[in-house]
Amino acid sequence: MGRNSSGTRGGLQPGDATYKGSIGKPEPLVNMKDPALYKATKEAISRYHAVLGVRQKNVKLAELSAGTYGVHVTANGKSEGVYLNKKHFMQTKKAVEASHKRGYASGWSTKTNKAVAHTVTHELAHATWNANMTGANQKAAGKEVNKLFKSWKKDNKKSGYGKYAETNVSEFWAETVTKAIHGKSDKYTKKVKEICKKYKL
Ligand SMILES: [Zn+2]
Repeated sequence: MGRNSSGTRGGLQPGDATYKGSIGKPEPLVNMKDPALYKATKEAISRYHAVLGVRQKNVKLAELSAGTYGVHVTANGKSEGVYLNKKHFMQTKKAVEASHKRGYASGWSTKTNKAVAHTVTHELAHATWNANMTGANQKAAGKEVNKLFKSWKKDNKKSGYGKYAETNVSEFWAETVTKAIHGKSDKYTKKVKEICKKYKL
């Protein structure tokens, strides 16, 4: 594996926001091998829905051609679904937690207090908003998200954010929403929640 591969960096990998690769053998989450991981994932989905509302119920396990832990699919400008990589999620809860914690340690992932919940929360955030959505509310929200992304990039005092959030506006959004739900609150986490409410995302 290369220096920047998931092996050393940990956490989600580029290309998960609007995945266009193959989705093989989708299965329900309950088929996870470790019941503790299934429970933690279901709790993460419930928590997301409790904080920001139910926007995407299609969350499945699948064989993905991408090496990342999970992906979000946008089809015709709308959220189609979230697919969690079987290669990652058929492991134990401990293994999943450890690999995401590696993402925190390497400075790649935005820090949260719940490593095991990170991937599914991040993908649900893409389902709430990403730069490829074409709905009127999403487009209007996009102006504010882009503005927020610009001021966030210039802010040298922000803390807890990882390099992945810098990749593009969709990753900034997903990592900040994940921080809003499972990490330390700040002006950016407050703002993304506000944008969700304002535009009914
Ligand atoms: Zn992403």
